[in-house]
Amino acid sequence: MKTAIYPGSFDPVTSGHLNIIRRAANIFDKLIVCVMVNAGKKPMFTQEERVDMIRRVTADLPNVEVDCSGELLAEYAANRGIEVIVKGLRAGSDFENEFQMALINHKINPNLDTMFLTAEHQHMYLSSSVVKELGGYDVDLSDFLPEQIIPDFKKRIIQNRQGGKEKHE
Ligand code: ADP
Repeated sequence: MKTAIYPGSFDPVTSGHLNIIRRAANIFDKLIVCVMVNAGKKPMFTQEERVDMIRRVTADLPNVEVDCSGELLAEYAANRGIEVIVKGLRAGSDFENEFQMALINHKINPNLDTMFLTAEHQHMYLSSSVVKELGGYDVDLSDFLPEQIIPDFKKRIIQNRQGGKEKHE
């Protein structure tokens, strides 16, 4: 049985991420979507909230498991016997960084290879950070986020606004 891992921060999971998840789940027997801790980023959603949102949007995909980890990706993969990392590749911007990470992961764990799926053209420009910026405006988010999590996203935007106001009062 071939298992692959799709790691990321998924803060929150976008339609671009979901597209990669669906395509990878079609290729591999099992796909583990893993929310990784990124110490450099201050997240909008907690790890548990991100896991919960991914579980809801992948509920119709029986071979997808959702997990989270603070471990090094190469170590997590070794501990779970996973030999393939799946990554999504958007135009230009992702290449340098992803190429470097793929080489480093392979160096740390030579059993581990990275496979890239190219982003669909309609998701090429889409990232969690762009969605977070749009959240501040009255924009239709249905092309950017899976329908099931749009209410969670809007609720968090309002909570953050109220939190920000309280801080300034
Ligand atoms: P983001 O850049 O959105 O914060 P993550 O760190 O959560 O992304 O991304 C996890 C993986 O998903 C990375 O391999 C990234 O290149 C890929 N990815 C992110 N957005 C898209 C998209 N719109 N289409 C395809 N792949 C994507």
